Amino acid sequence: MTKLRFRAVAIASERKPIEVKIPKFKTSEYYGEKVFNKRAMSKYLSKETFQALNNAIDKGEAVDRNLAEHIAAGMKMWALENGATHYTHWFHPLTDGTAEKHDAFVEHDGNGGLIEEFEGKLLAQQEPDASSFPSGGLRNTFEARGYSAWDPSSPAFIVGDTLCIPTIFISYTGEALDYKTPLLKSLATIDKAATSVVHYFNEDVKKIQTNLGWEQEYFLVDEDLFMARPDLALTGRTLMSHESAKNQQLEDHYFGAIPDRVQKFMEELEYEAYSLGIPVKTRHNEVAPNQFELAPIYEECNLAVDHNLLVMSVMDKVARKHAFKILYHEKPFKGVNGSGKHNNWSLTTDTGINLLSPGKDKVDNLRFITFIVNILAAVHKNNGLLKASISSATNAHRLGANEAPPAIISVFLGSQVSDILDKFEKSSVKDAIVVDSKKQISLGVGQIPEILLDNTDRNRTSPFAFTGNRFEFRAVGSSANCASAMTALNASVAEQLRTFKEEVDSLIAQGKSKEEALYEIIKKYIKESRPIRFDGNGYSDEWKEEASRRGLDCETSVPLIYDSYTSAQSVKTFEGILSEVELHARNEVKWEIFTKKIQIESRVLGDLALNHIIPVAISYQSILLTNVSKLKEVFDDYKTLGAEQLRLIEKISNHVNAINAKVHAMIDARKVANSIEEEREKAIAYHDNVAPYLDEIRYHVDKLELIVDNDMWPLAKYRELLFIR
Ligand code: ADP
Ligand code: MG
Repeated sequence: MTKLRFRAVAIASERKPIEVKIPKFKTSEYYGEKVFNKRAMSKYLSKETFQALNNAIDKGEAVDRNLAEHIAAGMKMWALENGATHYTHWFHPLTDGTAEKHDAFVEHDGNGGLIEEFEGKLLAQQEPDASSFPSGGLRNTFEARGYSAWDPSSPAFIVGDTLCIPTIFISYTGEALDYKTPLLKSLATIDKAATSVVHYFNEDVKKIQTNLGWEQEYFLVDEDLFMARPDLALTGRTLMSHESAKNQQLEDHYFGAIPDRVQKFMEELEYEAYSLGIPVKTRHNEVAPNQFELAPIYEECNLAVDHNLLVMSVMDKVARKHAFKILYHEKPFKGVNGSGKHNNWSLTTDTGINLLSPGKDKVDNLRFITFIVNILAAVHKNNGLLKASISSATNAHRLGANEAPPAIISVFLGSQVSDILDKFEKSSVKDAIVVDSKKQISLGVGQIPEILLDNTDRNRTSPFAFTGNRFEFRAVGSSANCASAMTALNASVAEQLRTFKEEVDSLIAQGKSKEEALYEIIKKYIKESRPIRFDGNGYSDEWKEEASRRGLDCETSVPLIYDSYTSAQSVKTFEGILSEVELHARNEVKWEIFTKKIQIESRVLGDLALNHIIPVAISYQSILLTNVSKLKEVFDDYKTLGAEQLRLIEKISNHVNAINAKVHAMIDARKVANSIEEEREKAIAYHDNVAPYLDEIRYHVDKLELIVDNDMWPLAKYRELLFIR
């Protein structure tokens, strides 16, 4: 290992930037050229087919066989002309990332040859061998029948020689086995719920679109150094290593120049992203060394989720060409900032209104307040669920653990919106509904300062922050599928809007005016949802105590956090999106994944500690012992002269013994946990009884790193991993 470490350090430090050849200059010339988008469709489909397809997409209706046949023919022609030889249904199983099964476009022609064939039925539906995808016991694995079916609202695209068709993935009996199915249902649900509430203000609205603009944070590590760290290669994070003398204290990375090697990687990545129709816009260094961020212009939520997953896999491929490895792990390095995926979320109408933007007149602003307050109420009611939607073994290091903010969901509104709500809450119905522009102004409702849009007021410690015309859900993990968080958020807000509509309508039915009814219910919600509002420092310990007094969910154990998915409130929230059976089944998958992640980390750390670290520590100790013996031969007061050596010898023994004892105790704890049948109980055992050893063992290994001769240390150190030249 030591040889591998020094070889990797030498290779990495001599590496030169790799020049990128981009065939076309203007982005607009190649943007979306690998996508079967509307422009391609209008060229390759007949007018009738094109219109029928657009119609189906707009209304969210199924595409029938006959139409699928026509679309498949056009799509095939386009794909073949653009170099595709294979096609695949591309879907999001409940594990990380995406899944694909490639088939060639060939069929027997009946004369001993082959023809390129792609029938409509292959476009509409496929039956991949699904037994290897987790289903939480929903699908009988002996039958292995999962179906993938085309999602026409996300366009097909070409990667390499393969036409990728975005699909949902469901069981034989119709239960969702993926992330996309519930996401699509949540989008339809929030569209319906929000449209009916918007009708109090704007009757002409027919459709509401949910938008997502994600910001993807990630780390880059040189490929050879990555391979010289078995823990990074196998678990995505460093399970040991002492902090580097210099990491992010100087905060000099954020505004520093992007290193040349990274710059070239980004150029090529952007070219690939643009050809795939992904509108990436910003790229910059992040706070930590080697940490970067990529963000596109926001898009419709389903498309944005697909684009995030697609870009993650494109990033992996492009990184390889530049001899980098991408780390999506939420906390690859101890003592260094972690990576998230901020999800900027908003709702817009088909008439061009952003429902989270304050407007110029009274109606606009009452609508703005209606939506803000309903979102507050939704996040308050479902704060445990929203936390569950972003929780994973890896993201736990960013939320709830050491060096991380507490695992609590709260909402930051900023002083202006907070003031408006406070005034609104105190106003009487009589004040409020007086149609007197002066009163309205004094109430702060008629006129909301436009300065709001400048985002003057920012709070980077809030997991869910209002940022002028959208909410930013920042607690999402960098390795996560955005769909999990977006589905929970859409479902929560939709359920809340339905309740709101019922309550307002029932007051109207009792004879109240629409305005009176709206004010009354909004005021009630402002009061009820107050505990979720927190503009202070979300990273502080005081907040933990305060949040618990406020009754917010403060659970930190990920396996227990998942219980929120099946609470009575969540079952109600997910009505029409995921059934109770599906919620339970999906939790089984989550617990299983949690267990496996900790199990792998525990095995890797045990192996590294016993077979790499202890032998090296003992070798170094032997050198010290030899030195002391020699001192003893020559000097009488060898104990004074060799005091430091003797101290180190003892320290090494103590750490080695502690590591050895703890690794064996961890193995025993694993054995006990492995014998548990039930997934939930097993995950709890891994969380409570196995995971704590990871930190305890690491503590002693990191101490040894500070003692043992640098030339003997087997693993690349942080200072070597973290500074790309
Ligand atoms: P930050 O200061 O948080 O880094 P950026 O300007 O980089 O902010 O924008 C973050 C993301 O927010 C981008 O993906 C952007 O497209 C997205 N965004 C901007 N406006 C909206 C909106 N109304 N709805 C959803 N996303 C939005
Ligand atoms: Mg942001």
